[in-house]
Amino acid sequence: MIWYPYEQMKTMKAPYKIVDANGVYLYTEDQKLIDSVSSWWSVIHGYKHPVLTEAIKEQADQFAHVMLGGLTHDPVLKLSEKLAAFLPGDLDYCFFSDSGSVAVEVSLKMALQYYMNRGETQRTMVLALEHAYHGDTFKTMEVGDDEDYHFVLNAYGKSPHVVHIPTQIAALEKAFETYHSKLNCLLVEPLLQGAGGMRMYDVSFLKRARELCDQYGVLLIFDEVATGFGRTGNRFVADLVAPDILVLGKALTGGYIGHAVTVANHRVYEGFYDDNPTHALMHGPTFMGNALACSVALKSIELFENEHYMTKIQNIEAITRREMQGFSDPRIKEIRMMGGCVCIEVHDPETLKGYQAFAYENGVFSRPFLSYLYAMVPYVIEEAELVQVLTVMKKWFTGK
Ligand SMILES: *Cc1c(COP(=O)(O)O)cnc(C)c1O
Repeated sequence: MIWYPYEQMKTMKAPYKIVDANGVYLYTEDQKLIDSVSSWWSVIHGYKHPVLTEAIKEQADQFAHVMLGGLTHDPVLKLSEKLAAFLPGDLDYCFFSDSGSVAVEVSLKMALQYYMNRGETQRTMVLALEHAYHGDTFKTMEVGDDEDYHFVLNAYGKSPHVVHIPTQIAALEKAFETYHSKLNCLLVEPLLQGAGGMRMYDVSFLKRARELCDQYGVLLIFDEVATGFGRTGNRFVADLVAPDILVLGKALTGGYIGHAVTVANHRVYEGFYDDNPTHALMHGPTFMGNALACSVALKSIELFENEHYMTKIQNIEAITRREMQGFSDPRIKEIRMMGGCVCIEVHDPETLKGYQAFAYENGVFSRPFLSYLYAMVPYVIEEAELVQVLTVMKKWFTGK
């Protein structure tokens, strides 16, 4: 029997069973649904994309997987070359893993070991953001700030190695003043905090963060597992402000297979590159660089580059702003929009009870959480389909 994610199994309602998926649509036995969640924000090209499916099939005919311990292969070589060219600046050194959580773990390990390798053994602390989400493994829970994990706090108490601050420049400056000599990194979801409630903040915070990191010799890590590949209306937020380490996941493979990558810049890579074997990065997920995942990721990036995806995302944002123009309701606290993300935050989570079934009846799959009703659609969505998603969201409040 299946133990489902984030569910109280005793009271959980039966999940919808999907029998087919194509383009932006999920199919159950009796309903056709626009996937407004893109399967946890990953299926940016829609389901069953012929180019991506073909890439997997072709690679499966060669080999599905060989380990990267002592071996290498074309799909992983080509993808790492592609990423180095596609990503800004000198973010050139790709460490692959099987999920976003693990890739964030790797980034934190990199930041810590970078300083241990230099003998700066006092730099054991991570500066992170309030409402952050970086994954479900233990260290990512610790650097995250999610009430759902408070059982861990109850068990172990607050970690002395992590400080959380709000996304305000004054708080940022104060934290650097207080902790700079102990920090190895500042870790952020840049511009858009996803699972923490689709919270959006200004790029000026990141610019100041970069300055302070430079001033105090602290590494800057962008967790772009959710924001990467266009979600914020930028290809990567790293195009606006350069991090030292960039983490990508979710949309990396177009949602076909779980895979992620931690990309370091030259400075970080140099911190490991010497004759001392104990300075090696001690990590190696069994399925890192999986050939099926790398083949499909390569094609996904090519589609993104060659088929005007940034224009598609700009259109999604423009249509969303147009449709949400003038819409309000006393139960709504705020409507936030950025790139391919829209979120209606309500005052009382009760307001969203029953929304999923309502959306289902109206041909949309949605999964609101807490006080957040959001859409992160596949970028290939047509205008009429996007309008349908947004109309259903509004109809929940207006009743029309
Ligand atoms: C989803 C997510 C993760 C975790 O990725 P998994 O593949 O689920 O482990 C990490 N960081 C951010 C910002 C995410 O949205």
